[in-house]
Amino acid sequence: MALERIGLYPGTFDPITYGHLDIIRRGLKLVDRLVIGVATNPSKDPLFSLDERVKMVEVETRDLSEDHNVQITVLPFDELLMNFAAKVGASIIIRGLRAVSDFEYEFQMAGMNVYLNPDVETVFLMADAKYQPIASRLVKEIARYDGRIDSFIPPRIANAVRAQIAHGKAKKPGKN
Ligand code: ADP
Repeated sequence: MALERIGLYPGTFDPITYGHLDIIRRGLKLVDRLVIGVATNPSKDPLFSLDERVKMVEVETRDLSEDHNVQITVLPFDELLMNFAAKVGASIIIRGLRAVSDFEYEFQMAGMNVYLNPDVETVFLMADAKYQPIASRLVKEIARYDGRIDSFIPPRIANAVRAQIAHGKAKKPGKN
């Protein structure tokens, strides 16, 4: 029996966007099972807690998993990516590539990760052109200034972002 091919898609997902979902949809064609690793990433000062981000990714990927008949497991992680990949049995790391800006960092990471574990390959996927400009960071910035974010993230997530930002503003009047 052939070994099950497990892919790992890591990220901060603060919050999950249509860009991430497009990469996930493409990644599902390459693997028998997909683990989505949600990084703690305190250095990025996330808008949502780790638990909230995991829950949001779970909810938003449910339909994709059913449509493609591929199991998706969403797990938090706070360790070296390659150690986490070994722990979940992943042989493929999936990353999305946007513009040139992503390239240098991703190129270095993939290059160094090969030294840490030569059995794991990093695969880069491009989102559909209409989703390529989307970045979680910009979605949050637009929302802070009451801009429309509905073209970038699913409706439930857009509501959660607006609520979280309103809550933050209420807690710190004058700041955002
Ligand atoms: P990180 O904090 O690791 O950059 P993100 O949550 O921002 O995590 O993104 C996770 C992965 O998804 C990264 O590989 C990133 O390049 C990719 N990604 C994010 N948005 C897009 C997009 N709009 N199109 C293609 N790839 C994307």
